[in-house]
Amino acid sequence: MSYKNYPMVSRVVFGRGSFNQLDEIISPKRLSVKAPFIFLVDDVFKGNSWLTSRIPLAYEDKLLYISANEEPKTSQVDKLVEDIILTSKERPSGIVGIGGGTIMDLAKAVSIMLTNDGESKNYQGWDLVKNPAVYHVGIPTISGTGAEVSRTTVLTGPDKKLGINSDYTPFDQVILDPELTKDVPKQQWFYTGMDCFIHCIESLNGTFLNAFSKSYGEKAYELCNELFLDNNLTPEEAQDKLMMASWHGGMSIAYSQVGVAHAMSYGLGYVLGTKHGIGNCIVFDHLEEFYPEGVALFKKMKAKNNIEIPKGLCDNLSDDEFNTMINVAMGLEPLWENAIGKNWKKVITPQKLKDLYQKM
Ligand code: NAD
Ligand code: ZN
Repeated sequence: MSYKNYPMVSRVVFGRGSFNQLDEIISPKRLSVKAPFIFLVDDVFKGNSWLTSRIPLAYEDKLLYISANEEPKTSQVDKLVEDIILTSKERPSGIVGIGGGTIMDLAKAVSIMLTNDGESKNYQGWDLVKNPAVYHVGIPTISGTGAEVSRTTVLTGPDKKLGINSDYTPFDQVILDPELTKDVPKQQWFYTGMDCFIHCIESLNGTFLNAFSKSYGEKAYELCNELFLDNNLTPEEAQDKLMMASWHGGMSIAYSQVGVAHAMSYGLGYVLGTKHGIGNCIVFDHLEEFYPEGVALFKKMKAKNNIEIPKGLCDNLSDDEFNTMINVAMGLEPLWENAIGKNWKKVITPQKLKDLYQKM
């Protein structure tokens, strides 16, 4: 047996207001005055000078506002890379992503595709990237996905929704400033927060579990209980703790895998465009059979926070659409193997998944 030798985020700053240090952190990484920093910023911050006035633009740096209404697509990554190449005199000094999981993933993917030939769809999978990415910085503004710490960037391509998993994917620098999450709307806070909770449940109940994953997963799980059940934290404490829960949840799955909810949510996302956080919640609500304790807790958290989960998503799907959804979900072999074990195909059949999807 040979063990995986994983890279990690090389540097991380944590603290309320640490975003103010962005300039001093990235300045030494400027390669030349012609090699710009490209800031990819969630367009929810357009016109928000509290945040944008602190983005240190100099020389030929560019700030691109990006909508997070849809999750990242391979075509979107390719277009961004082409535009950056066409409008920059030299290869960029760095890519800085400021936003949620959507923007984190775009920043990672763009930084990889600036130094690797061809189209991003060719790199969806495990360890297909050949060249190191350009310097890339992640600054999360909503907590839960763990995208700030992970070794993947999840993209929807022409024939699959799958990450670019590689040693060059993790950020070179992350800035964890919990204050940046202060205006996240409540529903979204819950959906993205539950992504973290579900990472814990899937990791802690998976067959790939080991002491490394367990230690991180248990910590994140404990923080999620404090955040979504006990509800006796100040807003600042809650922002700080959720940011660290997200980090730990991400670290937990680094050395294990996610499971049933993620596999099925990818299927929903691929066919219906359902976003990751809410999609996971829709699916997880029906997974008592696989995660009895986790789902019971989830239902309590939902009630405690007055959250309604959408229903009836699959009511009008055609057979073709069901088949695509099922194929996308079943294609994620490592997730099923983690959730169920090597013989997962005995338990998980297309009909089984169809029955589950029909409840959603
Ligand atoms: P998101 O980035 O899609 O953002 C959700 C919403 O919150 C958007 O409307 C956004 O504009 C808004 N928002 C973000 N920050 C805000 C703030 N501070 N104030 C107000 N509004 C704010 O959501 P997400 O759940 O963080 O990310 C989901 C994405 O992450 C999916 O594309 C998923 O595939 C990806 N993901 C990646 C990994 C990974 O390891 N790479 C892991 C899990 C999920
Ligand atoms: Zn997730």
